[in-house]
Amino acid sequence: MQIKNLLQAVPRVLFSNAPLDAQLIVTRRCNLSCGYCSEYDSFSQPVPLEDLKERIDALHRLGSVNITLLGGEPLMHPDVAEITRYAGRKANVSVVTNGFLLRNGVITALNDAGLNNLTVSIDTLHADLPVPQSTCRPPHLQVYLCNTLLFNDVRIMQLVRF
Ligand code: SF4
Repeated sequence: MQIKNLLQAVPRVLFSNAPLDAQLIVTRRCNLSCGYCSEYDSFSQPVPLEDLKERIDALHRLGSVNITLLGGEPLMHPDVAEITRYAGRKANVSVVTNGFLLRNGVITALNDAGLNNLTVSIDTLHADLPVPQSTCRPPHLQVYLCNTLLFNDVRIMQLVRF
């Protein structure tokens, strides 16, 4: 994980009990429906931007070193770039995504907003699009690939081969 302002972050965690990472759910809605998952639905509205800003303000007051945007699928939030920019004023920002909504425009917007880390969680290989690592490289986003072998037994051999 890339951590900006490392020299300020270390004493914050060591001497003021600031959280190293805070996870912020920006929407419960997801474009996938993994069988083992209970963290999503197909109908929730995105958490309003103003509510998220209040929560981010609270995390900034706590001194959280990193704020991770989660869902559901966080890229389904229409203001994900603005949320990233707002959170990034005083913290490192990470996004965990299933990857299927990553497009050049999205990646550029997140990069311009100052996103520090992007984690692609491979929950299925069944969608038509490949995981677009190559489109993440030009803006120099760090990409982490995770998978869910332990809980994804239906597709485990496909994932192992991948
Ligand atoms: S992509 Fe993630 S949030 Fe969406 S259903 Fe699968 S595991 Fe759950």
